[in-house]
Amino acid sequence: MSEEVKHQAGLDALRPYVPGTPIEEVQREYGLEEVIKLASNENPLGPSPRAVEAIQDELKNLNLYPDGQSYRLRHALADHLAIEPDSVTVGSGADGIIMQICMAYLDQGSEVVVSESSFPVYDIYTHVMRARLVKTPLKGYGLDLEAMAACVTSRTQVVFVCNPNNPTGTIVTGDAVDAFMARVPDDVLVVFDEAYYELVDSDDFPDTLAYVRQGRRNVLVMRTFSKAYGLAGVRLGYGVGVPEVLGPLNRVKEPFAVNLLAQAAGIGALEDEDFLRRTVEVTRAERRYLYGEFQNLGLEYVPSHTNFVLVKIGPRAGEVQARLKREGIILRPCDGYDLPHFLRITIGDRAQNRRLVFALQAALV
Ligand SMILES: *Cc1c(COP(=O)(O)O)cnc(C)c1O
Repeated sequence: MSEEVKHQAGLDALRPYVPGTPIEEVQREYGLEEVIKLASNENPLGPSPRAVEAIQDELKNLNLYPDGQSYRLRHALADHLAIEPDSVTVGSGADGIIMQICMAYLDQGSEVVVSESSFPVYDIYTHVMRARLVKTPLKGYGLDLEAMAACVTSRTQVVFVCNPNNPTGTIVTGDAVDAFMARVPDDVLVVFDEAYYELVDSDDFPDTLAYVRQGRRNVLVMRTFSKAYGLAGVRLGYGVGVPEVLGPLNRVKEPFAVNLLAQAAGIGALEDEDFLRRTVEVTRAERRYLYGEFQNLGLEYVPSHTNFVLVKIGPRAGEVQARLKREGIILRPCDGYDLPHFLRITIGDRAQNRRLVFALQAALV
């Protein structure tokens, strides 16, 4: 008689995260050389050169465990953000911080409020913890903070506010966030996921770090080095919150969640103001270029505060995505985000964007 080994019960409810198809996989599958990936919101300028230098300098120390407290990196971030070092924690990507938040703050049966068509990693760790997801519909293409606040109950532990929202690229404003925070009870943790913070182009974007500076005990702000700093491969993200908020995260985190090279890279990247400035400039210029071309193609798109644009293709979205993939252009299908008629297109450099536009034009006729 054979008994199966039982897995953790929360796994039954989860839809696994589907990453963008790797370039090498498409090269192998279709025998192509020139494959471009506009599917994972990676930086088309490459990594921050100062980060690369810092990694090279650190290679000789790879026999050593990294500093489990990431002292130098946390202090560099604290300087950069004008916040106390005790209010900064680092993780293996913002994804790692999301996992820590869920492990530290969710019990079986806790409720987590998120928006539909938002970042799927919140859902995964909520299910792993056997907590319950409560999802509000989008309002237009943005998060409906009023609806999210209305969903908070005595069982709610965490609310994830993805701002700008992935995959729609929209923001919620400072006024909307202030009104939301006035409604949410003090014992509910509000997580602002600001993975695209550096790329936001709006005076109305909320200053969420101000809540932390004011000592709010239910706010955690997350950002990452993966997007604007071009370090997605390194896996480095950070969280900002008062020590009372971060304490539980530090108890559940892996002892060495941020490796030696990632810590060095983060310090180097923070000094690389030139790279950040170029990234922001290129992103804005190429965003405008793509808007114009989408208009020429008669495609509706959602104006974006990020390095990706959500584009409405219609019922043929899956077919168009598959065709472009065969031609060596990897895009992100959005069925998993409950937006099956859309594709999420990462903004590349001009050569990549041109190639995308020509391929789209051919595929749409
Ligand atoms: C990319 C992304 C993350 C994850 O970033 P990593 O630091 O690479 O783990 C988190 N949240 C959102 C909204 C993202 O788009």
